Amino acid sequence: MQVPTRHMQGGRTMSKTRHARVLIIGSGPAGYTAGVYAARAMLEPLLIQGLEPGGQLTTTTDVENWPGHIEIQGPELMVTMEAHARAMGCEIEGDIISKLELDKRPFVAHGDSGTTYTADSVILATGARAKWIGLETEEAYKGFGVSACATCDGFFYRGKEIVVIGGGNTAVEEALFLTNFASKVTLIHRRDTLRAEKILQDRLFKHPKIETLWHHQLEEVVGEDDPKGVTGVKVRHVETGEITELSCAGVFVAIGHAPASELVKDQLETHMGGYVVTKPDSTETSIPGVFAAGDLTDHKYRQAVTSAGMGCMAALEAERYLAEVGLDEGKVETEPLGYGAENPAAE
Ligand code: FAD
Ligand code: NAP
Repeated sequence: MQVPTRHMQGGRTMSKTRHARVLIIGSGPAGYTAGVYAARAMLEPLLIQGLEPGGQLTTTTDVENWPGHIEIQGPELMVTMEAHARAMGCEIEGDIISKLELDKRPFVAHGDSGTTYTADSVILATGARAKWIGLETEEAYKGFGVSACATCDGFFYRGKEIVVIGGGNTAVEEALFLTNFASKVTLIHRRDTLRAEKILQDRLFKHPKIETLWHHQLEEVVGEDDPKGVTGVKVRHVETGEITELSCAGVFVAIGHAPASELVKDQLETHMGGYVVTKPDSTETSIPGVFAAGDLTDHKYRQAVTSAGMGCMAALEAERYLAEVGLDEGKVETEPLGYGAENPAAE
């Protein structure tokens, strides 16, 4: 991973400005696939990885539905995708975009590193992030027994009892994975049917270490302060309101993901809780030259393979757009930006 640096000139910190015909924001399956296609179209794309290089699949273990692999580890799949994009000529930067200005031409993206990126077209592939229930005690014990990533934190719960909240694929996969460490896993779900795929449900129900608690909602995380850690949960029966306390050392919240669309809030049309709206059968957004792919725009399928497919579409559509506006050969000079290379805030 290439970490951008600030330049020192004459004792002053200078920030870099970089221009790309195609700027890809995000390094999940959508971003890397867009990188492969845009690079093969000779558009010299620049991809910004963000806080989670490789995206959501780096937080899981077995992936069994990526065509061509009967089974592959999520992190391994994403390392391979990154290598593929690089090999095709996609440049990859380890930066995080903190602000995006889509009302300017070229578009302007500000990196946490101090680098300013300008772009003739932008492919947004910022994916989705884990949702939290929103309880005060959940927040208080985050990192001290409350987690949203079993692969990251499961190891800390060897021989201990754990609860998992949720009823989708993520919750069931997390519960199954946590049996590698925990003495007992209780899956707590607010209804009595799961959304998870049948094959995962079968594995869950057959597992001797897993119990399911239906019709219950997490009410409170119970813990101690010295040393800080979780000792149990209070759960509420959704129909009777009865509260039950369970002892456990870990709480894994797996109640879904919300689109990471903060960067484009109030700039692009969004719907259904922040998903970026794209034109039918297209990745075009409400601003010409800005494309959105993957979980950021997809409230329906949210799969690695569908995200990759949309990344491909976005790159092809960016290529067509650049040709239409005459920027595909990189011959057209862009307007001077006005803010120069200097970043006073960094001094
Ligand atoms: P993501 O994978 O979410 O990647 C988003 C990227 O955007 C990240 O690299 C992040 O760093 C970057 N980013 C975000 N904000 C910024 C910013 N401001 N600046 C720069 N970069 C930014 N799907 C399957 O098909 N099979 C599975 O087995 C499977 N298992 C899963 C297991 C788990 C635990 C989870 C959570 C999901 C799973 N999924 C699975 C779903 C799959 O991971 C997603 O559908 C897919 O990763 C979405 O890809 P994406 O490229 O849209 O975004
Ligand atoms: P999801 O499918 O949206 O499921 C979220 C679950 O959490 C639902 O069961 C929901 O309950 C529950 N929930 C939501 N809000 C809640 C709250 N406030 N309190 C308690 N429970 C709450 O999310 P996901 O499981 O993270 O999956 C997201 C996407 O990634 C899906 O498209 C999934 O297919 C994909 N994915 C795929 C795989 C795979 O292919 N192996 C693995 C993981 C994820 P209700 O059911 O009552 O709504």
